[in-house]
Amino acid sequence: MFKKYDQKQQFLLPLSLEEFVPENHIARVLNDLIDLVDISDIESTYSEEGCPAYHPRFLLKILLYGYLINIRSSRKIEQMTQTDTAFMYLAAMQKPDFRTICRFRSTHLDSIKEIFSQVVTFCKEMDMIGSSISIDGTKVKANASPRQSKSSDALKKEIDKILKESIEIDKQEDEIYGDSTPYQVPEELVNKQKRVEKIKAAMKKIDEEKLKKVNITDNDAKIMKHKDGSKKPSYNCQVAVDEKEQIIVASDVVDEENDLHQVVPMIENVKETLGYKPTIVLADAGYFSYDNVKFLLDQEIDAYIPDNFYEVEKRGKTKKFRKSLFKYDPEKDCYYCPAAFEIPFTRIQKRNDEPDLRYYVCKYCSLCVLKNACTESENRTISRDPREYLMENMRAKLNTEEGTEQYQKRMCTVEPVFGQMKQDRGFREFLLRGKRKTKIEFLMMCTVHNIKKIADFMKREGKSLKEILNMITGRGNECRNKGGITARKASMVR
Ligand code: SF4
Repeated sequence: MFKKYDQKQQFLLPLSLEEFVPENHIARVLNDLIDLVDISDIESTYSEEGCPAYHPRFLLKILLYGYLINIRSSRKIEQMTQTDTAFMYLAAMQKPDFRTICRFRSTHLDSIKEIFSQVVTFCKEMDMIGSSISIDGTKVKANASPRQSKSSDALKKEIDKILKESIEIDKQEDEIYGDSTPYQVPEELVNKQKRVEKIKAAMKKIDEEKLKKVNITDNDAKIMKHKDGSKKPSYNCQVAVDEKEQIIVASDVVDEENDLHQVVPMIENVKETLGYKPTIVLADAGYFSYDNVKFLLDQEIDAYIPDNFYEVEKRGKTKKFRKSLFKYDPEKDCYYCPAAFEIPFTRIQKRNDEPDLRYYVCKYCSLCVLKNACTESENRTISRDPREYLMENMRAKLNTEEGTEQYQKRMCTVEPVFGQMKQDRGFREFLLRGKRKTKIEFLMMCTVHNIKKIADFMKREGKSLKEILNMITGRGNECRNKGGITARKASMVR
């Protein structure tokens, strides 16, 4: 016996789009949230005249849903609106072609900043955000081949080669057409001209930014080392993640390989989105600098950032006595070594753009029984940056029980976020090129990450979006960003 299988059967009642996706499907949450987002900026760019356009709200929904399930190409999204029930539901059975989707994405890229901000504000209203954040970065490959990263000399050679080939094509054309003009410039020549233009733009970038190499396909991408040791043209994607529900409260894409200069912009970014500064900031040693620690101290933010040698010294991996075994006495401006000898200040080293470095040299090493464990030089020398107290205070804080506990939270706050983006959503390479566009593409990934967290939160709390919105209304909260997801719109949700 089999169940009845008839592809030609007729339905008595018309199908409802509501039945295309199950009740608790993530596409519904995304749909309802994007229905509440203010997209007046996008809408205002459409003309009242001419052929009616596809509604920007549904184009936004299918784009974001694509990013959520690792379908980012506009051709693939077009295909999915014809075959996938969740896409059909979001598009209300409309089938825009890939050019429309692609044009929408490139025209309205900048509006995603406002949408990201509205979704974060909604998370804030739902009490999904606290005030402890972790900052981290990950390298994501640019949409460019490593073979297209070239030095100035290699670029000049390539231009010479193209010019020679072009002259050859011209000669062949002359032989075929004589004095008469061919109808069109040969495609090969057009492609070569385009290539020369790209190379010239790349050479300009090398000159202006004093770079060793530049990628011809994506001039803004830089060769960066990834965790697996490979080197690829990439961007450094930064996030600030709130501890409470792993909501991304700020993001950025930079072309600097290290994270050293990202603390200040990320904190400013967080303040702009949340309307307040975090009380606790956690970050790994890549973010440690005296300037960063001082900035956070001045902002009265409780920071937990180890320096580069903290872990090495803690694990006892240094060959000789580590510097932290030498105690500094600020009153006498001297160190005391492990053998209890006083090490006096001896000389200064001038530095450009940095405070002078102070040196302290021990005079008793030749008499010391610990010398073999301490130094290979005649006398042990200790250097001191006048800002070193910032590092010492930070180490002292990290060494307390509370400090260790706080810092450990970093790992389970920010690291899973990159895992979810890369493993679950396949975000290992950008689709778009250039710093401006990659920033926005990453912001889209961050927006769908937050939408997924909202869906998880609703599931865990056993509440619908409407119930949550009513809850917010009950608390009398008001949305702070212009016309965004507001409690006042609760009635719009099923
Ligand atoms: S070698 Fe010099 S600096 Fe090191 S413990 Fe001995 S006296 Fe102190």
